Amino acid sequence: MKNIVLLGATGSIGKSCLSVIRQNKEHFHLFGIGFGSNLDKAQEIVQEFNPDHIFVAQSQSDKSHSFWKTHSNTLSNEDELQGLIQDPKVDIVISAISGFAGLKASYFAIEAGKTILLANKESIVAAGDILMPLADTKDSEIIPVDSEHNALYQCLPRERNLNEISKILITASGGPFREKSLIDLKGVSLEDALKHPTWSMGAKITIDSATLVNKCLELIEAHYLFNIPESQIEIIVHPQSIIHSMITFIDGSTIAQMSNPSMEVPISNALGMGTRLPINFQQIDFSKLNLSFQPVANDREIIFDMAREVCNRKGNLGVIFNASNEIAVDAFINKNIDFIDIYKVIQRTFDYFSCSKVSTIDEIFEYDKEARIQAEKVIKSLH
Ligand code: NAD
Ligand code: MG
Repeated sequence: MKNIVLLGATGSIGKSCLSVIRQNKEHFHLFGIGFGSNLDKAQEIVQEFNPDHIFVAQSQSDKSHSFWKTHSNTLSNEDELQGLIQDPKVDIVISAISGFAGLKASYFAIEAGKTILLANKESIVAAGDILMPLADTKDSEIIPVDSEHNALYQCLPRERNLNEISKILITASGGPFREKSLIDLKGVSLEDALKHPTWSMGAKITIDSATLVNKCLELIEAHYLFNIPESQIEIIVHPQSIIHSMITFIDGSTIAQMSNPSMEVPISNALGMGTRLPINFQQIDFSKLNLSFQPVANDREIIFDMAREVCNRKGNLGVIFNASNEIAVDAFINKNIDFIDIYKVIQRTFDYFSCSKVSTIDEIFEYDKEARIQAEKVIKSLH
């Protein structure tokens, strides 16, 4: 029986994780959950899984909710969260909080030498320079949950001989605006941006998919997780989301991982840690399958250039790229800026900073703060 701490339990990834755990109850015990919103859902999770520990982010202030009366012993500060993650009884930490807010949990898990199932890509994008060497030192295994990275993880040979890789291909659905040019995107509504054609996800990542910034984050994530230069990573649009990513080896073979789009597939692979866990899934009907591929639209290259620069120069550039995007997406969701302004906010913030080395996690938090302030200034200048 493995003890799991699931952080981001009330979100979209949290829901898929709970479904895989429910289907494999004999192998997993939900030791702890953490979340920042949706007390009703948390209440249901607690009733069904009866976790030993509950962490509620301090931002959740609705103390009148019945949740607080029934679970008055919940943890709510960062030291308590760290204590929970460090508990020797914990085998697996699932990092599925959304955005930069998930970095602390990823850091605590790696620092404690735990096996971490990483959905929170923002952690690696912002702090790859700190987290990857720390994982080595602390012997913490990072297993990717992001569908593309889990696909690559499955395609990689066990011995991880990176010299045998010619190229990594990360697939992209292209999001709801795949057929539109940048000019057509002026004035698109929040509702349209939230309509993802193949995946159902939280709001932030759905907007990231519409802008294609999600693929930029994934490019940086792949670069750090697999230690592959960006020049060997290609993004290819594949609207059906059946092939989740592929690797071409130096002998000309390409290995792809396929499934119908469901996050339960990469999650069960990650939780299985080398064994295949049974889950209910919809088989691919190959007789009806029509797979297509196309390059990413040229007019979106500008953000990919920034992402590639992050991979090449590292340091504070990842945290700046990520923070400017989070501020821009937030402003778009709150209807303060137009959809295409998201690109302007990222680029102008990114260009404002020069590249500096980072050597501590505190410096990452410092740069995050500065980049957010700068991004807000850019937003003001747009009005
Ligand atoms: P979501 O918005 O549906 O859920 C986010 C979860 O994090 C919720 O439980 C929320 O309460 C919690 N949370 C937010 N702020 C918090 C805080 N400060 N402290 C504690 N908990 C907090 O998001 P999601 O779509 O499930 O995405 C989660 C992460 O997984 C993101 O990093 C995303 O990029 C990544 N991811 C998601 C998908 C997907 O299919 N949804 C796919 C790949 C990667
Ligand atoms: Mg993904």
